[in-house]
Amino acid sequence: MNILHQPSTSLISHLECPKCGRTYLHQELHTVCENTNCQSSLFARYNLSPGVFKKESLRANPNSMWRYSPVLPIEKVEYMISLGEGFTPILPLQNLDGLEENRVYWKDESGNPTGSFKSRGQSTAISKALELGVKAACIPSAGNAAGALAAYCAKAGIKAHVFMPKETPQLFKDECVLYGANLTEVDGNIKDCSKLASEEGEKNGWFPVFTLKEPYRLEGKKTMGYEIAEQMDWILPDVILYPTGGGTGLLGIWKAFDEMETLGWIGSERPRMVSVQATSCDGITQAFHQHQTESEYVDKGFTIANGLRVPKPYADEYILKVLRESQGTAITINDAEMETGMKEIAKKEGLLVCPEGAALWQAFKKLKEKSWIKPGEKVLLMNTGSGYKYLENIEIN
Ligand SMILES: *Cc1c(COP(=O)(O)O)cnc(C)c1O
Ligand SMILES: [Zn+2]
Repeated sequence: MNILHQPSTSLISHLECPKCGRTYLHQELHTVCENTNCQSSLFARYNLSPGVFKKESLRANPNSMWRYSPVLPIEKVEYMISLGEGFTPILPLQNLDGLEENRVYWKDESGNPTGSFKSRGQSTAISKALELGVKAACIPSAGNAAGALAAYCAKAGIKAHVFMPKETPQLFKDECVLYGANLTEVDGNIKDCSKLASEEGEKNGWFPVFTLKEPYRLEGKKTMGYEIAEQMDWILPDVILYPTGGGTGLLGIWKAFDEMETLGWIGSERPRMVSVQATSCDGITQAFHQHQTESEYVDKGFTIANGLRVPKPYADEYILKVLRESQGTAITINDAEMETGMKEIAKKEGLLVCPEGAALWQAFKKLKEKSWIKPGEKVLLMNTGSGYKYLENIEIN
């Protein structure tokens, strides 16, 4: 990579509500659709057509997610807040028992700044916020999103206010404080944190960087979809397994596929998308199998996979739509299985992964056993982060 290489300009044209079609200026700060009947997440739209951004041009671009800057929302490079996020490796899993008959790949997000793929989303969200004049931001989070927000805000000179459940493992809280964020511990779950963060944010004028209520975290996370295509030589896997919390990554990857098709980079084939949830927080899984278009609020208590403890994702409708359109499915994994998975992967593959990622390995084995995944199929497990921050809840043996 040439560090002097200037990323090219953004092709962003506007923000759009996918539900009512209302459009919004990307030169203004927005959260969700202002139509009270809809209040949907807003999606960034770009001026895309074959030829406007050539995949051959990627070779000269930075080895970070900013190699895709024409399809990212930042218009002035001086506002780009980057800590080197993205362009993470795809590794073949080779030694685990149960890999026979399939090629299984691991996209490993653990090397990202702050140890998870949350850095991708916060990099675009905080860059755009800075470009639009934000001085202070707030977020409710049970883990990685808060740390990532705090780090990018530190770099941007924006004051971060994070609201986290008391029972969040200590390391997730400590990193926020070290990055200079103002931490509020809440006696309750993520929903209680959201309520308090909204109230305090509104009172104090802090910009809310909430999952899928802020339009640009999705844009950072979608770069995972671009990378999967580029790193797999433009032939997408047959199946992608994703650990669903708020669903940003799942929706982002799907959005990237559509954008790449419009750019002429890939065809119309799509992987089957699988949502993996914790057993204690399985609203999407239930809704999918009961053929509902929205999920119920489900929170049956603690899980070691704090990234999956999102009782009713704000964008649940869109998550369910992607699972159906892609002919995917939804499955749950319990904490004991996640812990076993972490240990298997560490011992056989040399990777200390987060419980959310370990859940994917267990889900793969179950779907294989049910023949939902067939011999010969190419499978990608979207490992969202490192395991190092989670160890206080893991029995070491
Ligand atoms: C936040 C998080 C998730 C869930 O991500 P969404 O995009 O909100 O679905 C999964 N794994 C880890 C490690 C996380 O931090
Ligand atoms: Zn709308």
